Amino acid sequence: MADCIFCKIACGEIKSAIVQEDDEIVVFKDIQPQAPVHLLIIPKKHISGLTELGPGDEQLIGKIIALSKQLAERFSFSQCGFRLVINSGPDAGQAVDHLHFHLLGGRKFKWPPG
Ligand code: AMP
Ligand code: ZN
Repeated sequence: MADCIFCKIACGEIKSAIVQEDDEIVVFKDIQPQAPVHLLIIPKKHISGLTELGPGDEQLIGKIIALSKQLAERFSFSQCGFRLVINSGPDAGQAVDHLHFHLLGGRKFKWPPG
């Protein structure tokens, strides 16, 4: 999608610190990390947010969640704890309108998040 920064990252038009990718998903480092490890996991196809998921996206979302488990193991915070976060809409502070999962680890997190 034109003018979507994460679409541009997904197709390589904008450089980012890519951790891994396949034909459907890209994982890259957040440019303003909120934890020692702060990754963004995105579908390559443009979905503007959680509320815009369509029929048939379930497999893709399941794959992203399963990947977050593998990444937590790879970055060694699977056992001590981590967060997988989706911000949806203005009240949640969603700044980029391309569905993305924040995977945060390497420190303690408060609950409620505030
Ligand atoms: P959200 O507030 O959930 O929409 O999160 C958007 C996230 O994207 C923020 O944590 C930003 O730091 C991150 N971000 C924005 N632009 C880039 C970029 N070019 N490369 C990596 N992360 C980015
Ligand atoms: Zn996009």
